[in-house]
Amino acid sequence: MTSPQSRQPVDARHARLMTGVSLLAAIGTLVIWFTDRQQGLATTWDQWTIPMLSALYLSISVLHIVKPCCMPWALPPTLIATSIYLLVAIHLATGGQSLAQLYAATSLAQLIPVFYVIAFVSWPRGGAWISGLTYAGLLAQYLFSLQLPTPTGGWSDVHLLTQKTLLASVLIHPVCILALSFIVHLRGQLSTSQQEAFKGKERFLAMLSHEIRTPLQAMLGSIDLLALKLHGNAETRALDRLRNSATQLDTHLRDVTEFTRLEDPALRIQADTFDLTRLLNDLRDDWIERAQAKGLTLTIDIAPGDQAALQAVRADATRVRQIVCNLISNALKYTLVGGVTVHASLSRQHRGRGMTIVVEDSGIGIAAQHLETIFQPYVRLEDARALRADGTGLGLAVVQRLVDRLGGRLHVESHPDRGSRFTVELPMADNG
Ligand code: ADP
Repeated sequence: MTSPQSRQPVDARHARLMTGVSLLAAIGTLVIWFTDRQQGLATTWDQWTIPMLSALYLSISVLHIVKPCCMPWALPPTLIATSIYLLVAIHLATGGQSLAQLYAATSLAQLIPVFYVIAFVSWPRGGAWISGLTYAGLLAQYLFSLQLPTPTGGWSDVHLLTQKTLLASVLIHPVCILALSFIVHLRGQLSTSQQEAFKGKERFLAMLSHEIRTPLQAMLGSIDLLALKLHGNAETRALDRLRNSATQLDTHLRDVTEFTRLEDPALRIQADTFDLTRLLNDLRDDWIERAQAKGLTLTIDIAPGDQAALQAVRADATRVRQIVCNLISNALKYTLVGGVTVHASLSRQHRGRGMTIVVEDSGIGIAAQHLETIFQPYVRLEDARALRADGTGLGLAVVQRLVDRLGGRLHVESHPDRGSRFTVELPMADNG
C-alpha cells in the first residue's frame, strides 16, 4: 500500500492564501457589481471602475502564482487604486439624491474595515499608511457632507441616513486601525524576542558543541593512534566500541547544533547557480564506500532530457547537498539488500522552474501509521533500533526544515519490507 505524505512550507501556504483572497475579491466584486446593476443600484462611477478593479484583483492572484517575487511592487498600487475607488464612490454618495447613492455609502462604509485588514496583512510596512490615508479621506468626506444643504422633500431622510452612516464609520474606524497596528506591533515584538531567544540558544549550543567536540576530536585521534599499537582481538574490539561511541556522540552533537540553527527565523538562504548533476555525483563518491561495504549499489540517475538544464540550477547548493546527503545516509542505513538510487529531473510541479530529487531504496520500509511521525524531531522507529543503526532521530526533521526554508515540498511513499521513496520538489531561486 502506498502512503504518501507531504507538507507545505509556511511561505507557500501564505502565497496560496493571498492567491485565494485576491481571487475571491475579484469574483466577489464582479458578482456584487452584476447584481447591483440588475437592481439599478450601481452608480455611474461603479459601471467602469468595478470591472477594472476586479480585473486588477484577478491579475494579482495570477501574479501570485507565476511571479511571486513581483508582489511587493504590485500590491501597493492595487491597494491605492482600491482606496481611491472607495473614497470617490463615497464622495459621490454624500449628496444622497438617490437610493443607489445611499446604498453605495452604507455598503462601502462597511467594506472599508475589510480593506484595512487586507492592507495590513498583504502590505505589513505600508498597511498603516494606506489605512490612515483612506480614513483621512473618509473624515474629509464626512466634514464635507456637513456643509451640504439638506435636500428638500423625500431625499432629506436619505441624506440624513448617509450622514449617520459616515459618522458611525468616522467614529469606529480609528479603533479598527489602532487594533490592527497594535497586532502588527505585537507581531514585530514577538519576532524580535524570538530571534533573541534563538541567538541565546545558538550561542549556548555553539559553546557546548565547541567545548565537547574539541576534546572528542582529540580522543578520536588518540583512538586511531592506539589502534596502530594494539594487536589482540579483544583489545581491538574494545577500541572499536570506543571509536563507535565517540563517533556517535560527535554525530549527535552535530545534528543537535544543526537542527537548532535551522529553527532561527533569521537564517539566510544563499542562492547560487550550480551543477546539480555534479553535486549528486560528488555525493555518490562520498557514500559509495559505505554502500559497497554493505554490499549495496548506489546509483545516480539523471533524466536524459533534463541533463543540460540540471547543470545550471539556482538554489542554495549547501542546503540542497545537506538534504540529499541526509536522505542517502538514511537510505543506506535502513537498506540491507539491493541498493539506493537517486533520480534527478526538472520539476513538473514548478513548470520546469524547479528540480525534483528522488531518493529511492529497497530497504526495510516504513509502516503507513509512522509516515506522519518520522519528520518530527527525535523520533526513531522500532525497526531502526532493532537494526542497531546509529541515529538521533533528527535527520528527517532537518530535511523537512531545509525543504521548508527553500520553499519546496517533501513527500514520502513507503512499503514495509520493500523500500521507501523520498521525493523533494524544490523551486529555483530567483536571480539576484
Ligand atoms: P535517524 O537518525 O534515526 O535516522 P531520521 O530523522 O533520519 O533519524 O529518521 C527517523 C526515522 O525514520 C528513523 O529512525 C527510521 O526509523 C525512519 N526512516 C528514515 N528513513 C528511512 C528509510 N529510508 N527507510 C526506512 N526507515 C527510515
